[in-house]
Amino acid sequence: MHPKVGKALYLGLQDLRGIHIRSHLSWLEQTQRLPVDELRQLQWERLQRTLQHAYHHVPYYRARWKAIKLHPDQIRTPEDFQQLPILTKQDVREHAKELRADNARGRTFHRFTSGSTGVPLGIEHSANSRAAMWAAKYRGHRWNGVDVGEKTVWVRGMPANGAAYAARRVDDWLTNGVRLFPGEIVPGLVTRFHQRLQRFHPRLLEGYASALYQMAKLMQELKLDGRALGLRLVVAGGEVLYDFQRTCLQEVFGCPVADEYGCAEVGIIGFDCEHGRRHIPVENVYVETQPCTPGIRARSSELIVTSLVNDAMPFVRYRLGDLGTIETQPCRCGRAAPTVAGLDGKITGLIRTADGRWLHDSVIRNVIYQIEQHRMGVAQIRFAQEEDASVTVEIVRGEHFHSETVEHVWRSLKALLGERAVVHIRFVERIPQKDSGKFCFFVSRLPESAREAGQVVGQDRGAPLSLSGNGSAHAS
Ligand SMILES: [Zn+2]
Repeated sequence: MHPKVGKALYLGLQDLRGIHIRSHLSWLEQTQRLPVDELRQLQWERLQRTLQHAYHHVPYYRARWKAIKLHPDQIRTPEDFQQLPILTKQDVREHAKELRADNARGRTFHRFTSGSTGVPLGIEHSANSRAAMWAAKYRGHRWNGVDVGEKTVWVRGMPANGAAYAARRVDDWLTNGVRLFPGEIVPGLVTRFHQRLQRFHPRLLEGYASALYQMAKLMQELKLDGRALGLRLVVAGGEVLYDFQRTCLQEVFGCPVADEYGCAEVGIIGFDCEHGRRHIPVENVYVETQPCTPGIRARSSELIVTSLVNDAMPFVRYRLGDLGTIETQPCRCGRAAPTVAGLDGKITGLIRTADGRWLHDSVIRNVIYQIEQHRMGVAQIRFAQEEDASVTVEIVRGEHFHSETVEHVWRSLKALLGERAVVHIRFVERIPQKDSGKFCFFVSRLPESAREAGQVVGQDRGAPLSLSGNGSAHAS
């Protein structure tokens, strides 16, 4: 389909569903050039409107804010706003019904989170919220030279059967795209997909960072020319995009790589501009940071988000569980919106060391980076901290696997986690993705109680967790 036809068809169909992406997008393309003060003012007005709506129409907030005797009229500064209680995933799970507005009119759209940190959450979006979220995404694409309706390749989702499969195929066609499921990234299928894409001439490749990276690496191994696809942009989302993945994607596809940061609850939270900084769509979302729980030695703060567009089920001061920082220095692109930096993953991605410290899972990234740098022939690798705090490393061997890799991984982990750490290394045939199609380099199976703030501080004072015994590496 010609991109212009694709764009008109797609936006027209969304208009029919009541999701007016076109008008939101043109508004967002005007506001993005506002001076910083005007942008802040616009965001603050939208926040105040959201708080009034939440107080008057959402039973959960009304009850909670009344209990602490705080009315939205009293919230005049960002500091006042911080007096409002934090909304947790647990709250959303337990009070989903009371979090819905009693005056929600028209059609609403139900979505589930991917459940990266546990059980998926059911979220309700208004048509306005859906339109604003999509518009923020497409604005990001346009910053990087790709318009709505351009031919797209997705590497995400899970295969469906029957009617769901047919619906997805129609959806793919209407949005001018083709799809590869992360589970299909195997030599035979990737070779066939590469041939198909050469005929299709896509402009945009989009997917989970790990799946795109996996595909790029396999293409390198199979000597398939990624640049022959003629892509203009790769957009990685849904997971943390690590530098080594970005470098690999740029090398294989020969085009810029943009990071899209967002979630099902509030939509896009940051999108890379052409200068590689993730601007916050402040028209849609209010982002704050909070220092991490004392005792947890992560570098960044926790991000707290408030949606400014979803009247059906407003999220006010929602703890996402993501770590990051907000930067306000001017960007070379000239847009005044602040940016999200230092996205290091999830608060649940913390590793307990043998002497009772907590390390951020980005230390694992360094181990993987070294394996990449030394081209040790690892096709896939995953680290898990088990319930007893031992660490299991699963490795899928690639064609040029180096026998020293096991020793290297084992030594690196001992250096990070302490000599007493118990490390098991296993060779496996394949490491499956989660049901959502996402892939995590690190999984923590430590009981939730072990990660609670009080315990962390207490144990830091000298009662180490049950990490003991002699380190051992088992290759099986
Ligand atoms: Zn910028």
